[in-house]
Amino acid sequence: MKVIKVGGGCLHGKETIERIVELIAARGKGQVFVVSALYGVTDLLIRSMAKARENEEHIPGILSEIKARHQLVARHVIGRAADLKTFNKEFANGLRRLERFYYGLNFTGEITPRLTDAVTSFGERFSAMLLAAALRSRGVSATCRMPEQAGLMTDGKYGDATVNLPATERNFEANLAPLLARDVVLFFPGFFGVSDAGHITTFGRGGSDYSAAVVAAALNAEILEVWKDTEGFMSADPRLVAEATLIPVLSYEEAAELAYFGAKILHPRTVEPVRKKRIQIAIKNTLNPDGEGSLITAQSPKPASIIKSVAYDTDIAVLKVHASGVGARRGILGEVATAVSERGVNIKSVVTSQTCISLLLARGDIDAARDALMDIAPRPFRQIDRLDGVALIGIVGDGIQKRPGIAARCFTAVADCRVNVEMISFGPSRAALYFLVEEKDLASGVNAIHSSFFSTPRCGRLS
Ligand code: ASP
Ligand code: MG
Repeated sequence: MKVIKVGGGCLHGKETIERIVELIAARGKGQVFVVSALYGVTDLLIRSMAKARENEEHIPGILSEIKARHQLVARHVIGRAADLKTFNKEFANGLRRLERFYYGLNFTGEITPRLTDAVTSFGERFSAMLLAAALRSRGVSATCRMPEQAGLMTDGKYGDATVNLPATERNFEANLAPLLARDVVLFFPGFFGVSDAGHITTFGRGGSDYSAAVVAAALNAEILEVWKDTEGFMSADPRLVAEATLIPVLSYEEAAELAYFGAKILHPRTVEPVRKKRIQIAIKNTLNPDGEGSLITAQSPKPASIIKSVAYDTDIAVLKVHASGVGARRGILGEVATAVSERGVNIKSVVTSQTCISLLLARGDIDAARDALMDIAPRPFRQIDRLDGVALIGIVGDGIQKRPGIAARCFTAVADCRVNVEMISFGPSRAALYFLVEEKDLASGVNAIHSSFFSTPRCGRLS
């Protein structure tokens, strides 16, 4: 059996959704579909929380917008009146529960992480119900199960949960296996699970990919397919590099690096659950379902280009923590990292020298991280500076850290284009090398490296 993830980008507009429903009817018998919310619905649910808190009179309008968005699609894709009626009933129940959450947060005036997770889970709940009804109305036997019914268990961390895979596996065996033996199309909402205490916990934005990987691992699927509206992983962002090509095969390690820093093809944690079980991930383009796509597997062939991709991240700023003898002072790195993460700030990467610890952070996190460090008493550092206007470039390919000459080739290409490299990090992965450039040099740098590894060298900036 396959587990297939259908992304929100494919659930955009009633005609597109109808095509997806047809694709599922044609290819999805006996498979499990893990689905995202309809396009834009998660954002709408989040935005609406602030509006609902502001004034309870906003709540009926919020609910009618959510209702209208789904019913517009439902009326189009659920052809049979009886199936539409069943869907409407289920949907109305869900809306009533959602409504209570909005009134609740207005009443308490508080948007807690727990409530945020409960509210945002409704996007996926509704899309799973809707798609199951659409398939039934085409005469295909289809149903949906919610994560709390199936027992998809998490560690209870709101907004950034991790799954408890052994417990989930046991629960799925009891709750889903009998259903799957009946050869139905099963729809399962992505994005969230339930904690031991019974609380809804999400996996963070884009987390349906991770859910799908969890479901694939727990059910020992033969493969995890990720249906998207793009072809797959590319050798560079095609908006920046005109010659960028599709990467047909990647290793788990390469995919994890690219998911983290590169294009937003997959949620960064997607490979974790499937890797141990050696379940492959196939990225498929729903606009070209017979196309090659990208395959993520344990062993990936070494390409002639040596590297697989040049990735970049512009949401980067650096906090430089100056202290002497960093390498000889026990605990200083831990102290700095702990203070920052206790403020809820994620550290993307760390580069250290004897005199400086550089924290690579998302731009919006810089102030919070700085405040957290200033509050440490006594201060383990001399001074803090920030570095703005930078972007991160990474080259990704298995074994590049071990192969001589790769870094030299990369930096020569960059230097030949007169791009200055600010900071270099091999990072924790054997498959990646990262460095910072000034943001204005990003396109030149990425193009120079791409040309150097994938074709004849030249300096180029796309206009
Ligand atoms: N609907 C959620 C989001 O927009 C999760 C997902 O689609 O992966 O972040
Ligand atoms: Mg996504």
